[in-house]
Amino acid sequence: MRSGKEPILRKIKDGTIIDHIPAGQALNLLRLMAITGREGFTLALVMNVESRKLGRKDIIKVEGLELKPEDTDKIALIAPMATINVVRNYEVVEKRKAVPPKVVEGALKCRNPNCITNKPNEPIKSKFRTISYNPPKLVCEYCGHVMTHEDIVKQLLSEA
Ligand SMILES: [Zn+2]
Repeated sequence: MRSGKEPILRKIKDGTIIDHIPAGQALNLLRLMAITGREGFTLALVMNVESRKLGRKDIIKVEGLELKPEDTDKIALIAPMATINVVRNYEVVEKRKAVPPKVVEGALKCRNPNCITNKPNEPIKSKFRTISYNPPKLVCEYCGHVMTHEDIVKQLLSEA
């Protein structure tokens, strides 16, 4: 019998499957999730498989780890439009699309050193508006500085 699914997506009891990751971003996502492979999770990583939607994509399957909804925004900033499937007892109980948030507050620092959010005496939280979703691109609400996807990934990973 054919299920029509990739073998990698089968037989996970409890955990998370992240699918439709833009090719090349799976390792960055693992770093963001602070997964090194030494935690004892059973982990499957597939990179550069063919995808009708994306051309090439990566897939991550982690057993024993359930991603929380609040992790979705950061994942979306690295792997926009990835699909997060939460699996319990072999069933997908939740499917989330990692859509970059419209507004990103506090999670990133503006790269403009003169931005008011970088002044030590100003208790102003950084705030960015998303001007492009795929790949994500953000503009600082205060100074207009634009963060590219590369900038965003670098910064998220340096703090991970
Ligand atoms: Zn700024």
